[in-house]
Amino acid sequence: MPPSAPSQKIIEDYGQKLFSAPREASLSVTGWTRTLLDQMMADDAFRLAALRFVDVAPRLRDDGDFMAHLSAYFKDTSFLKHVVGTPIPGSGFLGKVIAPLARRNIRAMAHSFILGETPQKALKKLEKLHTQGVFFSLDLLGEAVISKTEADGFLKAYLEAIENVGKAVPAWTANKQPEKDAVGSIARGNVSVKLSALYEHVHPVSHDESVRHLVQKFRQILAAAKAHNVHIHLDMEHMHLLPITLDVFEQVAMEVEYRDYPHLGVVLQAYLKESEAIFDRLLAFAKKRKTPFAIRLVKGANWDFEQAHADMMDWPVPVFSNKGATDVQFEALTRRLFFAFPHIRPCIASHNVRSLAHALAAMGTYKLRPGDVEFQMLTGMGESFRSALVDMGHRVRLYAPVGDYIVGMSYLVRRLLENTANQSFLRQYGREGEDEKQLLQPPVAPDEKAERPASQGFRNRPLMDFSQATARNKATNALAGFDLRLPVKVVPVVDGAEVLPKGEAEHVCPWQTDLVTTRVGLADEKTMERAVSSAKEALPRWADLGAKKRAAILHKAADLCEKRWNDLFALQVYESGKDWESADADIAEGIDFLRYYADEMIALEGRFQPASRWGEANESRYEPRGVTAVIAPWNFPFAISVGMTAAALVAGNPVVYKPAEATTAIGDFMCQVLWDAGVPVEVLHFLPAPGSSVGAKLVAHKDISAIAFTGSREVGCHIYAAAAQVAEGQTHLKKCIIEMGGKNTLIIDSDADLDEAVPAVVHSAFGFQGQKCSACSRAIVVGTAYDDFIVRLKDMVEGLRVGVATDPAMDVNAVIDAAAKAKIRGYIKKGKDDGSLLVQARLPEQSGHFVPPTVFVDVAADSALITEEVFGPVLVVERAKTVDEAVQRAQAVDYALTGGLFSRNPDVVEKVKKVYKVGNLYINRGITGALVGRQPFGGGKMSGTGTKAGGADYLLHFLEPRVMTENTMRRGFAPEIV
Ligand code: NAD
Repeated sequence: MPPSAPSQKIIEDYGQKLFSAPREASLSVTGWTRTLLDQMMADDAFRLAALRFVDVAPRLRDDGDFMAHLSAYFKDTSFLKHVVGTPIPGSGFLGKVIAPLARRNIRAMAHSFILGETPQKALKKLEKLHTQGVFFSLDLLGEAVISKTEADGFLKAYLEAIENVGKAVPAWTANKQPEKDAVGSIARGNVSVKLSALYEHVHPVSHDESVRHLVQKFRQILAAAKAHNVHIHLDMEHMHLLPITLDVFEQVAMEVEYRDYPHLGVVLQAYLKESEAIFDRLLAFAKKRKTPFAIRLVKGANWDFEQAHADMMDWPVPVFSNKGATDVQFEALTRRLFFAFPHIRPCIASHNVRSLAHALAAMGTYKLRPGDVEFQMLTGMGESFRSALVDMGHRVRLYAPVGDYIVGMSYLVRRLLENTANQSFLRQYGREGEDEKQLLQPPVAPDEKAERPASQGFRNRPLMDFSQATARNKATNALAGFDLRLPVKVVPVVDGAEVLPKGEAEHVCPWQTDLVTTRVGLADEKTMERAVSSAKEALPRWADLGAKKRAAILHKAADLCEKRWNDLFALQVYESGKDWESADADIAEGIDFLRYYADEMIALEGRFQPASRWGEANESRYEPRGVTAVIAPWNFPFAISVGMTAAALVAGNPVVYKPAEATTAIGDFMCQVLWDAGVPVEVLHFLPAPGSSVGAKLVAHKDISAIAFTGSREVGCHIYAAAAQVAEGQTHLKKCIIEMGGKNTLIIDSDADLDEAVPAVVHSAFGFQGQKCSACSRAIVVGTAYDDFIVRLKDMVEGLRVGVATDPAMDVNAVIDAAAKAKIRGYIKKGKDDGSLLVQARLPEQSGHFVPPTVFVDVAADSALITEEVFGPVLVVERAKTVDEAVQRAQAVDYALTGGLFSRNPDVVEKVKKVYKVGNLYINRGITGALVGRQPFGGGKMSGTGTKAGGADYLLHFLEPRVMTENTMRRGFAPEIV
């Protein structure tokens, strides 16, 4: 029988009963909190500032710092009174008075939404609520963990909470509301569990390993729950953890020991577009399991995050963008849940009277009695409706967060966000006083497509979403048996023909050194001469082809990259040692460069036209410079090669391309794609060769007009100098587009959010083994944050897993070759002399060029570890008294590539933006992973010529502008300028 909606009349009747409770109590906050919320709802700028200030406030222990943040967030002093809760008498009023007041207010606000600091304290309150007919689910506050110590701590806390709850509740007097449904009794003790708190390495890309690990943890929790007759409710978090959560739930719930355990539940989020399909899956599972479990139907708490994250990643938005659509889905799922009873025990979690009234009415339609359906609400919200439901004889469960006020801040911010959002029911009801009848009208779902127009212009190629099984399977299939196809044989190609090599080299897989990935036939100087001469001849035809046709070839090449993703992905993993995500990211960036430069070339001339006058027409034309030498590094073997080559080609320059010695197969792959897409063979030549001999000769060749180089400072400077020499017969100056190394620092201010700063430093320092020019090699921590930072960093680095690149559960793989390994180990040795070793991760047993992620502290200021690029997984952590000092020290190096700051003080952020002069400065995030079109990349000082790859002006470096001026006046007549 298809679930049908109950009549509007019955819904309205139930709604009126719920509304009969006093309106002010709908949001159970009073006094200052109420005033603050009102002000947040009245003013968007204040809302944003207040949310951010509340987030940082608990970390600000000293009054001066507190006041500095207060005045940074609330520039308009008239706002201050809303935060302090009292008018501010004059500007001289001291932090000593204001800070404690504001602090007390925020703490009081936290207590409106957080039940207690410890489960023991909370249980006293919960017992009292129990006598009033209210049940509970205990939630231990805290967000994702980053180390084993933290994850173990959480497991212990859950097990203790289950035991405490299990021991406490049997002695409580019977609840006046039904403690059973048609299936049987309901466990009185109830704990909500978040899987992300139980495993520091949970990650979509290592789905199977994450599930395996979490199954063990969840099993321990269920064992304790069973021993103490406590209900366990698995919370649902962000969308990317949903597949792992469902798999863990189903796996453990089906095990012999737990298959009969009825006190178990999971969450369904109605805001997900695929919530219907998730429900189908859960229902099928419930039928297979044969013992009912509970589903808590919620609307979803991470609405802003899910939308922003999808936008950031260019992934489809997983949630309905309109609240009405979510409400419609909530009602549909309510009915489906009721229809599924008793296979599933329905819990309806909402503070929206329409949603609740609809559920109450639908209970009648499906002949469910009070007790068969449970209602759930959050602490501090919808208290009047909670009482009304209890009075109507229903079982209402309070979601009861427990924890200290610092760990509870992100929970608190989510509640504030939710309560003050424009579309929030409680806001509309409580503050805006909307008509009750209006609030009970059926929700309407607008057409989602009509809502969001498809965006125009360049979009980055989205990274693979490895939370999806299809993406993981694609990667697994690409890697399966690929080693049997190795080694790849690579030879020079000039004019489309393979050239008999002059010498041979080979490259081994970084993480499996007995596997040769590439056998390279090398080009010699003569081959290089032939390539340059052919390219020179090809120049006029390629230039005349025109930007549009050349751009079309680049787009076709981008399509081919997608089609050939499997082989390219596997090559990245085997030849350069990239992990899954880095391998896909390198391909995606290559595709981005192709499409972005294609589009930019077409837009360019229009963008840079000079001014004309009546009677004088001025016009700029951008001509290719001539034969371009592209000399690439191995660390972004595809993306950087493609970027430099595509820019040169689309601008009309023929290219002689020399790949890095370690990644010639990927270089060969790129050339093949470009030729197949339509780049004429005489326009692109492939020259695998040693840099120091053939590379150097190529740079010095008289017919080379431009050199696009990315690599080390040593080679870059050498090329720059060599290019300045005018060879015999050379009739032009050479243009150098040079990107070199970095010595990049992340500054952690004393108010930084360490939950974010620590992982950001770790990922920036050790992602792809620290072999990124943008990698973080210094972290300078300011003031009081240092001690906490060091403890958490140490724990996290200790837990990093080093191993083979085919295994997505590894955090760090091998470095590129034996020479790199020896060089980095040399720096580690030096670090031990110049400072103290804080932590070093463990190495795997197998052979490979593995170097353990290593962190030093107390390193001498003049040590090479502070001043030189290490290009491996080595990090130095330093201490500074102030942000000014940190910036000054960060800049006391020759490089200026990337840098970063974690701070929650807007004044500090603005100041650092001004004074910390690096090519790419990142605020409150990691410092690697620049995206084409979004973070044009490259630095100054000894990091390069500041040419900004992936930016709108990059192509100009490959072009020579010519300006034509025509006198359009003939005997006193000239056409007007349009
Ligand atoms: P590398 O300088 O050793 O080699 C780069 C390329 O230069 C290779 O193709 C090599 O064969 C060639 N080469 C070497 N000597 C040459 C010579 N005398 N004349 C002409 N060519 C010569 O660098 P690498 O080890 O491949 O790459 C790592 C370096 O690249 C790091 O320093 C890193 O920071 C830097 N990098 C910078 C950026 C950036 O955008 N700024 C990006 C990636 C890598």
